[in-house]
Amino acid sequence: MPVEVLIVGQGLAGSLLAWQLIEQGFRVLVIDDGAENASQVAAGLINPVTGLRLLKSADSETLLAAAHSLYRQLECYFKQAFLIEMPMLRVLQSEQQYQFARQRLADPDYQTLLGDWLPDVAAIQAPFGCLQQRQTGYLRTQALLAALRQWLIDRQSYQCGRFDYQQLTVQPRLQWRELQPRWLVFCEGHQGRRNPWFGNLPFQVVQGEIVSAVAATLLPPQIINYGHWLLPQADGSFKTGATFDNQILDGLPTASARQQLLASLQAVMPALGPLKLTGQRVGIRPATRDKQPFIGSHPALPQLCVFNGFGAKGSLAIPWYAQQLIAYFQQGRPLPGHCNIQRFL
Ligand SMILES: Cc1cc2nc3c(=O)[nH]c(=O)nc-3n(C[C@H](O)[C@H](O)[C@H](O)COP(=O)(O)OP(=O)(O)OC[C@H]3O[C@@H](n4cnc5c(N)ncnc54)[C@H](O)[C@@H]3O)c2cc1C
Repeated sequence: MPVEVLIVGQGLAGSLLAWQLIEQGFRVLVIDDGAENASQVAAGLINPVTGLRLLKSADSETLLAAAHSLYRQLECYFKQAFLIEMPMLRVLQSEQQYQFARQRLADPDYQTLLGDWLPDVAAIQAPFGCLQQRQTGYLRTQALLAALRQWLIDRQSYQCGRFDYQQLTVQPRLQWRELQPRWLVFCEGHQGRRNPWFGNLPFQVVQGEIVSAVAATLLPPQIINYGHWLLPQADGSFKTGATFDNQILDGLPTASARQQLLASLQAVMPALGPLKLTGQRVGIRPATRDKQPFIGSHPALPQLCVFNGFGAKGSLAIPWYAQQLIAYFQQGRPLPGHCNIQRFL
């Protein structure tokens, strides 16, 4: 059967796009070099209310609905839990942020996303109190990627290997080895910066580190967000992260990131007591200068597409944006302007 869509990259972007394309009847082949990627390292947090101002983006309800629907569908198919819903406790950082919290609590638009403001929470240092957040949780990205990879292998829709740009012919039509796909979609994460057709897009990649540990005391039953965050895991351990560094992009763990994460955790939850560190992982977020994804066709070679730039929000954003790219393939429906790479022409 001829391949219609060739996808480069099996991170969250390539995997979720492939699943949804195949659901729509497309014949797909995914090629990935098998290296550890940002999607495997990510905590997978889903948090629609972010930043100092505690704002939700205009499309957060749309993104949440698409994400929930897709992850529930995948859970039914693979009979595994991927999206773990877990409330988040936001430790307010200043008087200013406390005032923003009050404004959001009074705003009916935030009713489904916020709970109460709590002046005191046991075992948490919070001079400005804590804000309860709802519709938060995390995606078990490693389990999901492993399930999708095996599913793609079983249907002969996966190749392990590095995609060599030199092997691609683009005129008069796309040809890669024996394949003549109708579309080629690059989902290469931060490595997209080296892509000969899309590498000049304004990426602003950011390295991040996450530490895993076990505490002597009982963990809280929710995600604690204090600038960094603590994410309790089902096995009683927890993760804490993540750092942001746009200078060092070597993918290597650092003592300074570990110390930074442990010091801020200790400051907000001193009662956690001694910790046993069990791991430290590093990844590079494919972030963009204007904080919007990079999606769409190359201006001169429309069969070549990019689906990238999901920054620190891949778990929430990718399901809905994949639907937009598929509608573009199926019906020629224009991509939303804010994510379409035509904005850089
Ligand atoms: C420390 C950290 C914490 C994060 N926390 C969160 C979080 O809490 N919530 C959230 O939503 N997001 C988080 N993210 C961001 C999230 O990881 C990304 O948004 C998402 O994973 C991006 O997925 P991707 O598929 O675009 O890229 P990637 O996961 O990097 O996947 C790209 C894939 O393409 C492959 N590839 C590239 N070039 C080639 C080639 N030429 N040939 C073959 N294969 C190739 C790579 O090997 C890789 O497998 C975090 C990221 C990091 C690093």
